[in-house]
Amino acid sequence: MNEKLAIHGGNPTRETMLQYGKQTINQEDKAAVLAVLEENTFLTTGPKVTEFENKCKEYCGARHALAVNSGTAALHCAVAALQLEKNDEVIVSGISFVASANCVVYCGGKPVFCDVEGETLNIDALKIENLITSRTKAIIAVDFAGQLCDYAAIREVADKHRLKIIQDAAHSWGAKMGDKRVGNISDITAVSFHPVKNMTTCEGGMVFTNDRALYEKMKAFRQHGIVSDYKDREKAKQYSYEMTSLGFNYRIPDLLCALGTSQLKRLPEWIERRNEIANSYKSQIEKLNRDIGKDVVSPLTQKFPSAYHIYVIKLSSVFLPEKRDEVFSALKAEGVGVNVHYLPIHLHPFYTENLGTKRGDLPVAERAYNAILTLPIFPTIEGKDVTDVINALSKVINHYINREENT
Ligand SMILES: *Cc1c(COP(=O)(O)O)cnc(C)c1O
Repeated sequence: MNEKLAIHGGNPTRETMLQYGKQTINQEDKAAVLAVLEENTFLTTGPKVTEFENKCKEYCGARHALAVNSGTAALHCAVAALQLEKNDEVIVSGISFVASANCVVYCGGKPVFCDVEGETLNIDALKIENLITSRTKAIIAVDFAGQLCDYAAIREVADKHRLKIIQDAAHSWGAKMGDKRVGNISDITAVSFHPVKNMTTCEGGMVFTNDRALYEKMKAFRQHGIVSDYKDREKAKQYSYEMTSLGFNYRIPDLLCALGTSQLKRLPEWIERRNEIANSYKSQIEKLNRDIGKDVVSPLTQKFPSAYHIYVIKLSSVFLPEKRDEVFSALKAEGVGVNVHYLPIHLHPFYTENLGTKRGDLPVAERAYNAILTLPIFPTIEGKDVTDVINALSKVINHYINREENT
């Protein structure tokens, strides 16, 4: 006999909703922000911005770091630095947040979507070469869920065709491949500090590069395309400035950078904790499958190090295609804040209408999309919460399996 699901009026597994992601704020974070207000000198561009950039550079080993006011702005700076010409193409991983492709459109380029590997949802390096044309300028690889892409393989194709690699590391900031940390792996790396990401500045982001020329371009782009900042002008005892290209206001406030510097101190332990939670999910999911007697749920395969920004599982074909949404709603009713990351970018109406992309273009990404669910993961989640998630998952899956077998 099955337990009655909460969605059918039964008792929920949890009384309170467990969010899928959450920031961690402590006393030191609060004091750091307050100190900037008490100082009452700089609220935006000031010493805290430079300090935050320097700490992030030190941490990841990149030569240049530029703090901006969102991960989206970071991606926009990255693509802008490549100086695309109209209709130049950039190959973009098929399953990601829309910002990973929008940055190409902002710059007058055309995103060309590449299918993903079914087991990691990272860009399938073997499928990149087929998409390269004389107009291709770069590859945007997204470290989906926090797992690093196969950068050795991507580098090989990129070098062969003289393409730049932009790493969308919104999920993977803090992860490390061998002795190289995220920020020091690709030509340009873009990071996000949105509250659900691995650490936060409320809104914010950063771009990293080892290439001075790219850095200078991005720096001007952050500030309207103006080539000198207030420090240069003070030093030169000058008031004049020159705008030499078209840029934006992507400056991040000092206040937020003070928070970022404080958060960065705890990032290593958070990444470790996220990996622990992921291991716990993995072993409990294996047990759930054994108890049911078939593989009904599978975690993504971990081939490379991961920061585990999100924990994504795939439901087996027993539940496909439309049952994912039923399982999603049933888990929400049980008090588990599940999510779905993401609708493949090429299926968003903006892209189908403007680029003519369509269902069938990326079969692996599309099949995966019908099967994926994101389970809650964040550093302060407790063992009991993880058990609740697994219990709710087990309850819901058993319900659907038995219903399936009785009809
Ligand atoms: C969050 C995210 C972004 C955008 O970051 P914002 O700080 O929200 O602008 C870009 N790419 C991916 C993969 C993301 O998850």
